[in-house]
Amino acid sequence: MKNRISYITFAALLIILAYFSYQIFVGVGHLQVVFLDVGQGDSILIQKGTRQILIDGGPSGKTELAKLGKYLPYFDDEIELVILTHPDKDHLAGLVEVARSYKIGKVLTTGAEKDTQVYKEWKDLLAYNKFETMEVWRGAEVKFEDVRMKVIHPQGKIDASAGDANNDSIVARLDYGENSFLFTGDIESPAEKEILDSGEDIDVDFLKIAHHGSKYSSGEAFLDAASPEEAIISVSENNSYGHPTEAVLGALKKRNINIFRTDEIGDIIYTCIKSKCKNQNAK
Ligand SMILES: [Zn+2]
Repeated sequence: MKNRISYITFAALLIILAYFSYQIFVGVGHLQVVFLDVGQGDSILIQKGTRQILIDGGPSGKTELAKLGKYLPYFDDEIELVILTHPDKDHLAGLVEVARSYKIGKVLTTGAEKDTQVYKEWKDLLAYNKFETMEVWRGAEVKFEDVRMKVIHPQGKIDASAGDANNDSIVARLDYGENSFLFTGDIESPAEKEILDSGEDIDVDFLKIAHHGSKYSSGEAFLDAASPEEAIISVSENNSYGHPTEAVLGALKKRNINIFRTDEIGDIIYTCIKSKCKNQNAK
């Protein structure tokens, strides 16, 4: 009898120990925002402990999986939230492989559709795996622990088939402690104008430059309203689009905004400790 009690005590101790080491390992995780270097496209990983938000998946499944493998805890096979800003291949193709390899808690989209093979594969995978999908627009909010994310564009439910993919991109603002990020997908000037007219607060510290630095985005009024300290451009070296354009780079330099480009420095990593986010690539 005595032996049995000590076995039970021992087993209980082991369970408690395992629980606390798990808590220590994942619980103290700082918020990390990583602009993954996925070539010509976008993919942004927002992670705290074992919880992730993944915005877009870049143009290649192989690259995306390699990047996630580098940053996710090795035992973590679930991404809590995936946001597809719009269904263009340079944002969606990598997500197809993610949906094959990970469990996805929920997918946020605008509902925009696209008549492409990669879009069809994506829809089939979501249905096959029974991943929950939710259409969102301005006002939708995501909260976990002290991380808050708010959708500020599109302004309402979009017409799925007739929509303008780039200008219907999901734009989201993330607030954490003292810092804020704005993720802009591939919006161009019509969407920038709608956002400015909406009166939403887009004044942030860190701005993901829209549409890889295209000249049709990042207008003067939009940059002035956002007035970031740092701008992040997700782009590949020698791409055929001429991204980022001199016009956008010039407008950023004129405002003394520090520019960080994935084609120059690879993954751009922000680590937030005690509510303050710091760019790990900054000198
Ligand atoms: Zn794009």
